[in-house]
Amino acid sequence: METYNEFVQKLETVIKENASTPAEVSAQMEKLNSFHAVCVKLEKDIESLRVSLERVSSDFDSIMKNSKTAKGNFEVYKNRFNEFKKSREPEIAELAAERDRLAKSIDSMLMEKYKQKVESKVPVFVPSTNNTCGGCRMEISGSKMKSLKENGIIECENCGRIIYLA
Ligand SMILES: [Zn+2]
Repeated sequence: METYNEFVQKLETVIKENASTPAEVSAQMEKLNSFHAVCVKLEKDIESLRVSLERVSSDFDSIMKNSKTAKGNFEVYKNRFNEFKKSREPEIAELAAERDRLAKSIDSMLMEKYKQKVESKVPVFVPSTNNTCGGCRMEISGSKMKSLKENGIIECENCGRIIYLA
């Protein structure tokens, strides 16, 4: 718009100039010709802007349409998930009760460690394989291997998982 307004202003100035001599007329003609070239370029720029705007507008329409579809799908899947969860609730409750019953028979120190690690280090319990941690593959030191053989479990010095003797 700025370029366009500037152009129109210049054009008006040239038109108002009173050319009386042939030299003045020819100079004015030259200016008008060069303005014509600018005019053609401006027209092209405006056209390409129009095309861009049309594309943006159609992209926007399709995004809006997709988002509507996605929202609809989300509702469908959410309902399906809730239905599925509801249908499995008795089974989940049964398993939770079984888990709580079994938890009582587990060493409380070990259970505490498991609870600390379960958020970030699944699986928490890993076997020792060829003197390495079954979780991170770090080699277990000689003294730690001795402790593993004596106590049945150790904590990995690298990843913190609980290694049991395989
Ligand atoms: Zn490890």
